[in-house]
Amino acid sequence: MVNLGKSEIMDFVYLLHFDRPISDKHTTQHYIGYASDIVKRLNCHKSGNGARLTEIAKIRNIGFALVRLWHGDRNFERKLKNRKNAPKLCPICSNGQGNFDNEILINLEDIDHE
Ligand SMILES: [Zn+2]
Repeated sequence: MVNLGKSEIMDFVYLLHFDRPISDKHTTQHYIGYASDIVKRLNCHKSGNGARLTEIAKIRNIGFALVRLWHGDRNFERKLKNRKNAPKLCPICSNGQGNFDNEILINLEDIDHE
């Protein structure tokens, strides 16, 4: 768990990487989302709730990983989505060569998302 003080921002924008494309129509392997409670949200996704993509992933038995996490609001989520370059934001797809800017504020190791 992230140990967040009360004064800290609780809103997160996150990037999920799916083990394989969700479908022929959705060849993307990424989902960018926003959550005020990231742990609860991830558990929702894992149980097949929370988003259409993760619902389909659950049905098709496609696993996913939380690969990026930022402090941010819905405006930041929209900004990332509008870039349409999720693979470059994804450490798995970019082999660590992606567009890693200063927007990352939390290490994934700090988060218990099991
Ligand atoms: Zn990826």
